[in-house]
Amino acid sequence: MLKADLHIHTTASDGRLSPAQVVHAAAQTDLDVIAITDHDTIDGYLEALDAARQTSLQVLRGVEISTVFAGRECHLLAYGFEDNDAMNRLLRRQKSRRSERARAILASLARLGFELDFEEVRAEAGRAPIGRPHIARILVKKGYVATIREAFLRYLGKREIAMQVPAYPETTEVVQLVHNAGGVAVLAHPAGRYNFIEIKHLKDNGLDGIECYHPSHNSAHRQRYMEYCSDHELLATGGSDFHGNVHDYYNLGVVLCRLEPDSPIVQHMVHSEGVLTET
Ligand code: AMP
Ligand code: MN
Ligand code: MN
Ligand code: MN
Repeated sequence: MLKADLHIHTTASDGRLSPAQVVHAAAQTDLDVIAITDHDTIDGYLEALDAARQTSLQVLRGVEISTVFAGRECHLLAYGFEDNDAMNRLLRRQKSRRSERARAILASLARLGFELDFEEVRAEAGRAPIGRPHIARILVKKGYVATIREAFLRYLGKREIAMQVPAYPETTEVVQLVHNAGGVAVLAHPAGRYNFIEIKHLKDNGLDGIECYHPSHNSAHRQRYMEYCSDHELLATGGSDFHGNVHDYYNLGVVLCRLEPDSPIVQHMVHSEGVLTET
């Protein structure tokens, strides 16, 4: 069995640690495999792969794609896909959708009297597709709120300011793209978001797995999703959703999943990177 953490963010999206720092942190744990799953980008992955050469850690290509399912935002984890034109086109489009959304959020904040410049937010995000955490950091820097948490509680988590569903693609459309690129598609942190009728619909439309282990899931959730996966021939995955924040620092390598060496995710690793060695 391989110990894996299949949900990790870096500075290539809204994480706080660079891909190399994440690899070094993960190498201190007893993980065998990590997947870098930044929001809507794979830019951090190659850097992580490079850093991992000095360690015994295996790094899997992943991404957490923002999609829309049943009119609501739905996060889809994709693993082991090829770096093909259709995937790259999708991720480029996601990045510009996120910029448009950031502009809309800044306009809502301006109506409340907060002066934030798009370029400041762009600079905070660096190469990353812009996420609400980048806007939150500027709100803190400018003294409009004391903490990131307060920024979400008071403003960025409010539907009227920041929660309009952006023009993301339909979940099932993205599942198809991931399959066409030879990858597997997994529903991220489902607890409290979808019922089993909805999950069945996704499964009937090609969904390959469910993220059973996640810090937002309690043991009853884990058990329910694990059972559902074994009853419906879905992959059961898990990860820490590590962002390098102080509060989730301790999750890296703690919220993990165990992969059989013949799990399709491991097989995809072998095919896509040829880097997996038996441990
Ligand atoms: P976005 O990708 O722009 O929709 O922003 C969502 C991201 O914001 C999540 O991936 C988390 O990293 C972060 N986030 C969401 N809710 C909170 C919160 N209440 N406090 C701090 N960070 C949050
Ligand atoms: Mn995030
Ligand atoms: Mn998510
Ligand atoms: Mn995530």
